[in-house]
Amino acid sequence: DGVIWLDGELVPWREARVHVLTHTLHYGMGVFEGVRAYHADSGETCIFRLQEHTDRLFRSAHIMRIAMPFTKAQLNTAQRLVVRENKLQEAYLRPMAFYGSEGMGLRADSLQTHVMVAAWDWPSYMTPEAKELGIKVRTSSYTRHHVNISMCKAKANGHYINSMLALREALDSGCEEALLLDNEGYVAEGSGENIFIARDGVLYTPELTSCLDGITRNTLFQLASECGYEVRERRITRDEVYVADEAFFTGTAAEVLPIRELDGRVIGAGRRGEITHKLQSLYFDAVKGRSEA
Ligand code: PLP
Repeated sequence: DGVIWLDGELVPWREARVHVLTHTLHYGMGVFEGVRAYHADSGETCIFRLQEHTDRLFRSAHIMRIAMPFTKAQLNTAQRLVVRENKLQEAYLRPMAFYGSEGMGLRADSLQTHVMVAAWDWPSYMTPEAKELGIKVRTSSYTRHHVNISMCKAKANGHYINSMLALREALDSGCEEALLLDNEGYVAEGSGENIFIARDGVLYTPELTSCLDGITRNTLFQLASECGYEVRERRITRDEVYVADEAFFTGTAAEVLPIRELDGRVIGAGRRGEITHKLQSLYFDAVKGRSEA
């Protein structure tokens, strides 16, 4: 039930359909966002980092040469509207731009961009225990290809194949998330999260050559600097994660999620570390509107 914003109109959830010949379904050329709305302490529902997500959606579309038929302001309004019309206090939002079924084949030149925004109640991606105790992660046999142009700045449908294979592989082996390496074997990111490690009070995260330019990652830079932690962006090897004092994932869905084990090696004390805990609390304060961040 509920409504979905599709090409400028609110349509009933069940009627927001596409044709089987939808171009993006066949070739994967589409761009999307994962956004979250939180019930703030003020009693209002606030979409966290709305403008940043809309900006990234438009950057992704620009990179993928997908012409956006709406303005950023219209997309912001659509996102607020969908949360309000569905009477959601907390929500996960999915804006997406995709090609329709106006043309067949790779050479189709008559394609139109369709844009939709859906929102649903998805208060927590991970259990409270996972947020406190951390999760078990497995390094994937699938890589994140930085040769795949526009990997870092574009959140595009076609970029998720390896992430999904990696996640499935990790879940099958009893872990909760996958860690993907880049083509050269350096740490890239999780299936839908960026990664940070802490060592001797300094935070490290991979530079933007093989991972998405995450909005939570950027928020973490800000929060870390507010509490005096230095963050260095550089290549990270897999064994640096094994011997880190702490490690955690960041993402709109995962928020700030401690990693307690990678490939059977316990990381630090094997539970949420002090720095992770501090940053996690600051992050929750930020999304709940308790701080300026
Ligand atoms: N990396 C990938 C592959 C993702 O899909 C996401 C989620 O959007 C992230 C990282 C984290 O990005 P953000 O913090 O903007 O949600």
